[in-house]
Amino acid sequence: MTTAPAAGAGSFLPDDLELTALEDAAGRCRGCALYVDATQTVFGHGARGVPLMLVGEQPGDREDQEGLPFVGPAGRLLQRALDDAGIAPGWTYQTNAVKHFKFRREGKRRVHQKPSRTEVVACKPWLIAEIESVRPQLIVCLGATAAQSLLGSTFRVTAHRGERLRLPSALRFDVDPEPLVTATVHPSAVLRDRSQRRREAYALFVEDLKSARAGVDFPARR
Ligand code: SF4
Repeated sequence: MTTAPAAGAGSFLPDDLELTALEDAAGRCRGCALYVDATQTVFGHGARGVPLMLVGEQPGDREDQEGLPFVGPAGRLLQRALDDAGIAPGWTYQTNAVKHFKFRREGKRRVHQKPSRTEVVACKPWLIAEIESVRPQLIVCLGATAAQSLLGSTFRVTAHRGERLRLPSALRFDVDPEPLVTATVHPSAVLRDRSQRRREAYALFVEDLKSARAGVDFPARR
């Protein structure tokens, strides 16, 4: 029997903010209706204390099946861009604003659907808990959904792309140094660009990642 979804993920958060405890609890989340059709919760991946946190929109079809973020086509583009920007994946924590795959069926295909504002807000406690646990120096929002989850619904990536910003006061954590946040496009936007400007879009994306890298204290590459 399917349990009716609760109003947000907050009541599913454990007391223990260790990443393994968070991931385990998120696997049982019923904070919105997205868990009903998705295969599994796709929690973030990476280690506590890494300098960069990358936040996408939601898992895609591949991620939903494998249970890991950024393993589909857009994820592969992201990993290539990170490499071109000189960022070792091991120094990033990779996650999404929404932890379940939202889709509609077209025959056998499952077609991505953008999560609603309500769903993004419902899932936000997991993202906040991940930030508190990982304590990154810089959060890189990939696309509007991630950026608006942290910076408010009026935030426009096109207007503030690449700027290094403080989190809103309601989201400031009592950690030193305080995590800053920046925003760029989602790698799927580069992937979908079939125009002659796709190479330029990719180059700009890599430049944004290089800018994110600058000023962040990276340990020796591993
Ligand atoms: S999308 Fe987020 S809030 Fe909704 S059920 Fe999944 S983990 Fe919970």
